[in-house]
Amino acid sequence: MLTGAPRGTRDILPSQSGSWQWLEHQLRHTCRLYNYREIRTPVFEHTELFLRGIGDTTDVVSKEMYTFNDRGGRSLTLRPENTAAVVRSVVENRLLGDLLPVKLYYIGPMFRYDRPQAGRFRQFHQFGVEALGVDEPAIDAEVLLMAASLLDRLQLSGVMLAINTIGCGLCRPGYRRSLTCYLDGCVDRLCGDCRRRYRTNPLRVLDCKREECHMVTRSAPAITEQVCTQCREHFTAVLELLAASNQAYTVDSRLVRGLDYYNRTTFEFKFDRLGAQSTLIGGGRDDGLVAELGGQPTPAVGFAAGIERLLLAMEINHCLPTVAERPEVLVLPIGRAAKTTALTLAEELRGRGVACDLVFGERSLRSQLRLADRLGVYVAVLIGDQELAAGRVVLKDMTGKEQITLPAAECADKIEQILAKRSV
Ligand SMILES: [Zn+2]
Ligand SMILES: [Zn+2]
Repeated sequence: MLTGAPRGTRDILPSQSGSWQWLEHQLRHTCRLYNYREIRTPVFEHTELFLRGIGDTTDVVSKEMYTFNDRGGRSLTLRPENTAAVVRSVVENRLLGDLLPVKLYYIGPMFRYDRPQAGRFRQFHQFGVEALGVDEPAIDAEVLLMAASLLDRLQLSGVMLAINTIGCGLCRPGYRRSLTCYLDGCVDRLCGDCRRRYRTNPLRVLDCKREECHMVTRSAPAITEQVCTQCREHFTAVLELLAASNQAYTVDSRLVRGLDYYNRTTFEFKFDRLGAQSTLIGGGRDDGLVAELGGQPTPAVGFAAGIERLLLAMEINHCLPTVAERPEVLVLPIGRAAKTTALTLAEELRGRGVACDLVFGERSLRSQLRLADRLGVYVAVLIGDQELAAGRVVLKDMTGKEQITLPAAECADKIEQILAKRSV
């Protein structure tokens, strides 16, 4: 072998792709129910988009991007997330019109030069939604309920919703000042990273996973206490709507997203049994993003979820269905002369919508039947010299093991009958 797959990437093998397709189907179906439509943006964009759309002080942008110059000398970057590109496309294609809101979803690979660990890859996959054009609390609640119903559909039990408000451009500066002031008094107890960043971005300290920082921020001033009246009313309304829909939640005043155009509602759905990587779905409002990327100021709210992490959580929770795609029928030609009949029969079955496979090469009847067993097909069709001469074939029902011989012309009808009985 030349060389393996690049570090932090992996192949999704046929034995696994059934689960992926199943999960993707559940995601798409949920989007259908909530009237979100799919948008597919390129996997690479101008680097500038992410510098502005994510922020150049974040770890993602400063340390983790796959950035390269193309042959024309343009700086391009493999997308580390999809929100910025979705907003870019919405602005560029003028999707915001009279029919507000615009509700979009995406599924696809993202790329980050991160340290690979359990459930974390350099090429990973994300599903996410974005609802643009509405600033009412009701859309925050709808997005949250959609995420919850999705996790429900996946039968992931033991997931907790943590929610917070991070205020707006008017009230957050005041909170930042009081937080910085508080942190000034405990700099010595912060981790190295936080000591460096707390003055430029104090909110990140609230987010820090290090135990020492956690201890410090436990008694930090809570943002929920300091937001302006409008932000408080918005937050209260969202919580009331959740309660009215019987959606459980905990308010976590340390849950923040450290970027300037994120505002008001932020939330995470957490699954504790995933350890440090416990967040399954994270999201909130990013009202400033459309304007940041050159559009008219437009409110927006959304979330993203890691597909690998969802699959891992479902595996841990024993609720990942084993979905194995297999042919329904296997056609077994015994001897060279039977091959033509076998091929035409297989094509006829496929034409009728029956998933069918055909054995190639010269193999004994016994080994072919073993193969049919192993594949788990419902019906095996045997075509040998004798049958061929008489214009007949042998059908073997692989579950009941009964076997019948019938004219080749009636074979496809009979198979349809057997399969129809199975699906009742
Ligand atoms: Zn505010
Ligand atoms: Zn820290």
